[in-house]
Amino acid sequence: MSFNSCDMAVDLGTANTRVYVGGRGIVVNEPSVVAINTHTGGIVAVGSEARDMIGRARSNIVAVRPLKDGVIADLEISGWMLRYFILKVRKRRWEARPRIVVCVPSCVTGVERRAVVEAATQAGARQVHLIEEPIAAAIGAGLPVHEATGNMVVDIGGGTTEVAVISFGDIITAQSIRVAGDELDDTIAQHIKKEYHLLIGEHTAEHLKVTVGSAVRELGPDEYIEIRGRDLITGLPRMTAVSTIKIRKAIEEPVNAIVDSVKNILYTCPPELSGDIIDRGIVLTGGGALLHGLNERLRHETGMPVHIADEPLTAAALGAGRCVEEFGALRRVLSRRIRT
Ligand code: ADP
Ligand code: MG
Repeated sequence: MSFNSCDMAVDLGTANTRVYVGGRGIVVNEPSVVAINTHTGGIVAVGSEARDMIGRARSNIVAVRPLKDGVIADLEISGWMLRYFILKVRKRRWEARPRIVVCVPSCVTGVERRAVVEAATQAGARQVHLIEEPIAAAIGAGLPVHEATGNMVVDIGGGTTEVAVISFGDIITAQSIRVAGDELDDTIAQHIKKEYHLLIGEHTAEHLKVTVGSAVRELGPDEYIEIRGRDLITGLPRMTAVSTIKIRKAIEEPVNAIVDSVKNILYTCPPELSGDIIDRGIVLTGGGALLHGLNERLRHETGMPVHIADEPLTAAALGAGRCVEEFGALRRVLSRRIRT
């Protein structure tokens, strides 16, 4: 089946939204953030611009991450955001109405799915198809999801970690936990608050995670890194040097939860498929796949080969995009088709 040049895929991630347009590739890659004026209820900004307002704008402007914990925390705002990104790409409204594939976290409920479909329809979609994130991520990572072999993918995003074994285009066994990038950031912020009596913003916590966070305990001398925040007691801005070893220790618990969910899926995996995983290994996608030492840690704890996808952050968008390009071949993995 052919596709229109305006057909598109949207990866509605808890941290970032990406829009893939047929024949063109990824054209939007922005944080899933909406800035709202609390006096008027109106939208002030969406995406990168809204993200830059987090913790910085006037008090009547709040930046909301509508999908924060992996569920669609705010249906209405999620809908606005999805519509905004689709319309951003779909400037020439007289063009044929597009077919849109939307990648959603696998734990979204029926009500949330309907809200996504409705928002995409309002933005002009002719047909809306939903795809679950682990399947999209596996396709984007180049796994042969259609074959009769077990493929294991671990997608670590902002709000959720999704672990799934896929065979014949279907999820055979899966688990989604609400421990992922955001939880690591929160844990780091809590640790800094407790140890140094310093309040830090979420950007600072994320920066610490990316630069010095690790999933393995490394031996060697401790290093100190300088950070800025607000003193919990005096209320004044303050700079302090924090220990990188202590930060790694602080995130041990959430990292262990991620490792355990991978092990749980291995325990529940049908034996034939386990055999495939021994040969083919586990593929990591999502931004959390880049956490220092995580691949090594998983290799060590499971004994399986572990690979990081070539483009972990965009794997799900690329996979959903392939469903747009090769609609006929991949339609089986799309969980439902809704004509409008
Ligand atoms: P989602 O699919 O939920 O939108 P993404 O796959 O875009 O999420 O991943 C975003 C998460 O990945 C964020 O929590 C971000 O901090 C984290 N991340 C991005 N790069 C790195 C890195 N180099 N190391 C650790 N975490 C990272
Ligand atoms: Mg994602």
